[in-house]
Amino acid sequence: MAFDTVVVIGGGPGGLRAARGIAELGSPVVLLEQDERLGGTPIRENYAGLTPHATPAEPLMNEMAEAVTSNPNADVRLGTRPTALSGEPGAFTLTVAGPDGESQVECGAIVVATGFQHFDPGRETQMYGYYEFDDVIALQDLEAMLKVHEVVRPSNGEPPKQICFVQCVGSRDRHIGNEYCSKVCCGVASKEAIEVRQMLPDCKVFIFYIDMRMYGYWENEIYWTAQEKHHVQYVKGVITEVLPKGDGLIVRGEDTTMGRPMELPMDMVVLSVGMEPSAGTRDAARVLGIRPNRFGFVDAVKAPLDPVATSKEGIYACGAALGPADLEDTVSSAANAAMHAVGVVRGQSRAGAGGRQPGGPGVPGPGAGRRPARGARGDRRGGRAQVAADAGDRR
Ligand SMILES: Cc1cc2nc3c(=O)[nH]c(=O)nc-3n(C[C@H](O)[C@H](O)[C@H](O)COP(=O)(O)OP(=O)(O)OC[C@H]3O[C@@H](n4cnc5c(N)ncnc54)[C@H](O)[C@@H]3O)c2cc1C
Ligand code: SF4
Repeated sequence: MAFDTVVVIGGGPGGLRAARGIAELGSPVVLLEQDERLGGTPIRENYAGLTPHATPAEPLMNEMAEAVTSNPNADVRLGTRPTALSGEPGAFTLTVAGPDGESQVECGAIVVATGFQHFDPGRETQMYGYYEFDDVIALQDLEAMLKVHEVVRPSNGEPPKQICFVQCVGSRDRHIGNEYCSKVCCGVASKEAIEVRQMLPDCKVFIFYIDMRMYGYWENEIYWTAQEKHHVQYVKGVITEVLPKGDGLIVRGEDTTMGRPMELPMDMVVLSVGMEPSAGTRDAARVLGIRPNRFGFVDAVKAPLDPVATSKEGIYACGAALGPADLEDTVSSAANAAMHAVGVVRGQSRAGAGGRQPGGPGVPGPGAGRRPARGARGDRRGGRAQVAADAGDRR
């Protein structure tokens, strides 16, 4: 027996892009999201403007969610997560726990889009005083302030006059086992620095870095703009501790360009925390029986040329479940995973119905996606899915 439904686990940008792709290709998709709202970390953590163009995050995430919820091929289940898996590629039975208790979803393929969580700056890096000093915050805390257009010192509600970012907190650190670069924090810190300078023109902004790692076009769009247009001051150096002084803070470390110790007063310190696998990613890997890599992200066993395959056939992963990723990486890998998953359910269904179609295993052929769907809602012959299938017929 082969099942034509694909299950996507996680309703962040990755899961939404994957679910949309699957639905638009005409296959039924069940999207599981453990929270009560779609949109993933950008929504849960109140991101303000997205790097590089500072486009407001919330409307963009709402748009992504709407593209899925409005598609009749998609069945979105909030407050729901997987608890057990049996079967084989093409014919999995996934047990899920939701608001109405446990139920089973029969599916041919699965996409894991369970994302990341921010590094906890209290874990083994207490020298920055995140939990001790109110005015030591993390990137996502500043995002939340920027979102409501109110950047103030948590200790007294006053706008800061001097703030700094400390890069690579929880990343590129062998002592804590996170040797990897989190990819996005140099860009995000620089974007936030620009926004602070725009909002508080009298506030001096410093970024202390080991080396700045800007992504492709972010170099011009963010890094040079921050320095040349907004006068953000980049200092190559290592911050070793943050201490209280009077009603402010002191950052201590070494200016590695000048080769000398430095000590500067600050009103606020922003820790550029990195990305770690979410608890949901670890949990999904355990439930599905797919191999995690040594950092706990899903192991991309066929990278680099097939970066979404996991250790189990028929199960794909995308976005930050695979490791640090920005939104472009996330939606690209999500579309890739969607294509593979649809290939599996169509290939398996046809094989079960008397052999694979011309075009090779897993390649959707004319008329694919028109079979009545299992596990999805509504009239699947209507809407965008049918337009896609009809376009396929004409080719
Ligand atoms: C501080 C910070 C700022 C950032 N700002 C930007 C930016 O400006 N521009 C940019 O391009 N990128 C930015 N990023 C990166 C961006 O947030 C990620 O690329 C993106 O969120 C990854 O999307 P995702 O869907 O893979 O994961 P997530 O956004 O983490 O979504 C995962 C979803 O899966 C759900 N989930 C998890 N486990 C389960 C489970 N077991 N069952 C059901 N549901 C589950 C979660 O609840 C969540 O909704 C930033 C990252 C950080 C750390
Ligand atoms: S992106 Fe920048 S701050 Fe983040 S880990 Fe890499 S080098 Fe460090």
